[in-house]
Amino acid sequence: MYPIKLKPAFKDYLWGGTRLRDDFGKDCDFEKIAESWELSCHKDGNSVVENGEFAGLTLAEYIEKQGRGVLGSNCGRFENFPILIKLIDAKDNLSVQVHPDNEYAQRVEGEYGKTEMWYIVDCDEGASLLYGFKENITKEEFRKRIENNTLLEVTNSVPVKKGDVFFIEAGTLHAIGKGILIAEIQQNSNTTYRIYDYGRVGADGKPRQLHIDKAVDVTKLGPAKTYPEAPVICEDGWKKKLLASCEYFTVHSLDIESSARLSADEKSFVNILVLDGECVLSSDSYEDMKLKKGDSVFVPAGFGSFELKGKCSAVMTSID
Ligand code: ZN
Repeated sequence: MYPIKLKPAFKDYLWGGTRLRDDFGKDCDFEKIAESWELSCHKDGNSVVENGEFAGLTLAEYIEKQGRGVLGSNCGRFENFPILIKLIDAKDNLSVQVHPDNEYAQRVEGEYGKTEMWYIVDCDEGASLLYGFKENITKEEFRKRIENNTLLEVTNSVPVKKGDVFFIEAGTLHAIGKGILIAEIQQNSNTTYRIYDYGRVGADGKPRQLHIDKAVDVTKLGPAKTYPEAPVICEDGWKKKLLASCEYFTVHSLDIESSARLSADEKSFVNILVLDGECVLSSDSYEDMKLKKGDSVFVPAGFGSFELKGKCSAVMTSID
């Protein structure tokens, strides 16, 4: 058992930029890189093991080979791998969209619903995103405003800065705005209902498909729930802060000055996604592993204690 460094799958959606290559050193030939799927067992884009005896296997193949023990006992309540972690570079606005909850998604789409969380890694001055409605509206008004292109008059636009966190419960209307780079931790799902796409056309010259009826079915027609910010916890040489905790994932930010001692116990694997700086992952049982900005590591459940040495910031995800 050893920490698995992952190579992402890439997506070249039309609103993507070049920062994942230019600033995060991602090795990808796409002209635009919209997303890198940094921890993924999803059929639409698997992460691939980069190091050690399992190199070349997809994350899904690795888990199948090693057994579900590497996920930890807390994952026993999920039939499939529970989460998907991405970096998203929005050079342009993403469509206004919504995701269904588990009940609806499993009934209608045959996969999980999607609750997700955004951590703003970086953004342009004045960048904003769309998060729920300003006030409650009716289903009829929602549908009418979609039809006559006035939806953006009633949606809630939020200015953002580096380090901001948004928890997007399934059913919450949302759109990432242009000039924002995000780390997204979400349920393992690729079901999105697109409501408004700024009149854009896809690579084939046609407008991308909208999913109005399904969106009207699942959208919560009011302001998004807000959550209190957790306190920063200072450890010796590093700080951590809880960003989000729900049934599907628990996410902390790590701000490491010199080194941080962490661990992956029997209950859950740990994913570390480095967002700035560099460090060495070191442990008693495996060779030192160098990590830099943009690197993603899956530490198997039961691996035990490990240390991140160096000056860096990261997000750490586990299943609680
Ligand atoms: Zn989304």
